[in-house]
Amino acid sequence: MKTNYHTHTVWCDGRDTPEAMILSAIEKGFDVLGFSSHSTYPDDNACTVPRLKMPGYFTEVRKLAKKYAVQIKVLCGIEADYIPGATDPDRSRYAEFKPDYIIGSVHYVIAPDGERVPVDHTPELLHEGLSRHFAGDVKAYLQTYFAQEREMVERFDFDILGHPDLCRKFNEKHPYFDETADWYLHELELLADAVAKSGKLVELNTGAISRGWLNDAYPSATFRDMLRKRNVRFVLNSDSHAADTLDCAFDRFADAEDFVAEFSLTKISRPPMI
Ligand SMILES: [Zn+2]
Ligand SMILES: [Zn+2]
Repeated sequence: MKTNYHTHTVWCDGRDTPEAMILSAIEKGFDVLGFSSHSTYPDDNACTVPRLKMPGYFTEVRKLAKKYAVQIKVLCGIEADYIPGATDPDRSRYAEFKPDYIIGSVHYVIAPDGERVPVDHTPELLHEGLSRHFAGDVKAYLQTYFAQEREMVERFDFDILGHPDLCRKFNEKHPYFDETADWYLHELELLADAVAKSGKLVELNTGAISRGWLNDAYPSATFRDMLRKRNVRFVLNSDSHAADTLDCAFDRFADAEDFVAEFSLTKISRPPMI
């Protein structure tokens, strides 16, 4: 089965309409296409579906799902940010929209002074954030990033962990930390433990390949091994922002045996809520 659960459109920061993405997915032979607009609900920011447009997003995708039901299964989800103190990816926050699934992602690291450092906007913004809000301490920044990732996984009820080592995005072209350092590998192990305990899915995300930043997916090969050793399950996602990149690099990864093709909320086992 060919599936993708991570798709952006003009409703947030994508280039194409949902219908253009669906037509491309049909042409590329997808069985399932899931939309996952960025959201910091109830706050708005430049990359997200504005709060007031959220009902419109769900209505349009649901309508298209019906229109194309014979050719493809279309799902409507959310890529929800975790910004401590502002928003989180918990299912309860999005309950009124009844999303088919939620991807939880960290795109901002909260610095000790309370400011948000954007993880993946541009190398320049990251560099500026690091020097201005972390006094250039890359290790402190990355440890805060992974602490937020763990906290998100442990505290909130959502389905798929989005690009768990997004902090690598600029590290190939503008190296700023050593991915083989013991302290960094320790952070990966801690996050892998938290994910395994939570029962959440992790995406293998090819978005940085299609945008020319990395030659490998998120999570890195090293991190994938750690997760697999703990029996964490994966979905293959392109994090596509345009119709022509919906299955970017899927041929490189699609043969892995451990991808979950289809999932439903009832099939994902969760520890009982206390
Ligand atoms: Zn993302
Ligand atoms: Zn995304």
